[in-house]
Amino acid sequence: MKLPLAYYGDPILRKKAARVEEINDEIRELVANMIDTMYQTDGIGIAAPQVHHSLALFVICRMYKDEEGRWNSSDKNQVFINPKIISYSDEKTRYSEGCLSIPKINGYVSRPFKVVVTATDLDGQEFTKEFTDLEAHIVLHENDHINGVLFIDRMEAKERKLIEPKLRAFKKK
Ligand code: ZN
Repeated sequence: MKLPLAYYGDPILRKKAARVEEINDEIRELVANMIDTMYQTDGIGIAAPQVHHSLALFVICRMYKDEEGRWNSSDKNQVFINPKIISYSDEKTRYSEGCLSIPKINGYVSRPFKVVVTATDLDGQEFTKEFTDLEAHIVLHENDHINGVLFIDRMEAKERKLIEPKLRAFKKK
C-alpha cells in the first residue's frame, strides 16, 4: 500500500528518529508499505520519517550498472533497522540527488565513495555490509533522514543558492 509522504516543511523530517525496539507485525507492515511507496513513486530509497513515522528505519533499492555504465534500479531492496555507520572512505563521489519529500528539486552532493554499515534486517538479524559508489550515496542520504538531515543541507553552496527561491515557495505551500 502506498503511504502518504511527508514533504519539506513538515517538522517530522527534522526530528531525530527513535530506535525500533521490537520488530513486530506493525514494523513488518510499515516496511512492506514503505517498499510499495518507494517503487510506486520511482524512489531508490525511503526512510520512515518520510512516511510520518519517526523511527530509525530505512529501505534502499539495490542498484546495478548496465553495459553502458548507467545506473539502474533493481527489484531487490535492503532494509536497515537501527543502522549505524561504522566507517566511510575519505574518497568521495558526486551525484545529483533528489528526494521524495522535496519533489522536483535536484542538486549535487559529495559523499564518501565507500561506507560500512551495521543494521538489523527484518528477520531481526544483525548484518554489517559495505556499500560503494551510488549505493553508498543512497545509504547515506537515507541515514541522514533518520537524523533529521536533508540532502539540501549538504548541497554545494553555489547549487543551494540556485534552489533557494524554489525551496521557499515549496515551504509556503
Ligand atoms: Zn530523501
